[in-house]
Amino acid sequence: RYAYVNGRFHRHSEAAIHIEDRGFQFADAVYEVWSVRNGQLLDADGHFQRLQRSLGELRIPSPRTRAALEQIIAELLRRNRVRNGLVYLQVSRGQARRDHAFPRTATTPTIVLTCKRLDFAAADARAEAGIAVITVPDQRWARCDIKTVNLLPNVLAKQAAQEAGATEAWLVDADGHVTEGSSTNAWIVTKAGKLVTRPADNHILHGITRARIFQCSQLLDLEIEERPFTPAEACDAREAFLTSATSFVTPVVSIDHHTIANGRPGSLATALRQAYLDQS
Ligand code: PMP
Repeated sequence: RYAYVNGRFHRHSEAAIHIEDRGFQFADAVYEVWSVRNGQLLDADGHFQRLQRSLGELRIPSPRTRAALEQIIAELLRRNRVRNGLVYLQVSRGQARRDHAFPRTATTPTIVLTCKRLDFAAADARAEAGIAVITVPDQRWARCDIKTVNLLPNVLAKQAAQEAGATEAWLVDADGHVTEGSSTNAWIVTKAGKLVTRPADNHILHGITRARIFQCSQLLDLEIEERPFTPAEACDAREAFLTSATSFVTPVVSIDHHTIANGRPGSLATALRQAYLDQS
């Protein structure tokens, strides 16, 4: 296996960054994840645009043009023989002697790219069964719209989900509303058949898949209400589901061990998953 670090491909086991890297020391870094299906990046534009925005918000200079990144990604996929899986890209502010403020002299951003195979058939099976989620307090900062590697609260939330026998944790803010999942956006369907998801403000990541669901819902003639919802409303909803680049649309069939509707994936979530994959 191979990884790309700062201009070169290395054996994955030997690829390394400096101990004074600000990504390592301060989580002063952003990342992106693309799904790869049949050798193609899904939602390439959306993820490249969000990468630019994340870098801009943290004032990290863009280390490569999009065209250069696309070439590197194609070569990475070729070397690793990945046709179905994901690409991970991380850019940190670079290396400097440890000091919280930005280094006085400009650093060269550190860029790392890896990829791995994913078994989309297993993901399909998971979507057909539906998944369980639990809720945990949202303990993150107020700039969750920037895709930084500052993911410790997300890590703890996902671990809590796994220990509870669930697949994902939905994060609940101080007002008692669901913000999003630890690595997914959260949705419900009301009894009247409307899709509900939280507005894309600074408390959630503006999911690229979330944005695509807005397009798919138009094709299916579904209405979306962007507003916060509570775990209680979700438990009582007709359907629930989550979205992300690697899970597409995945139906949720229980929340905190409470079964949603008849405990089977909802028809709208299933139709949206199909519409998303058909359009990709
Ligand atoms: N929220 C969080 C916290 C995430 O980490 C992710 C996955 N990157 C998402 C939502 C879903 O975003 P996307 O559809 O762009 O993968």
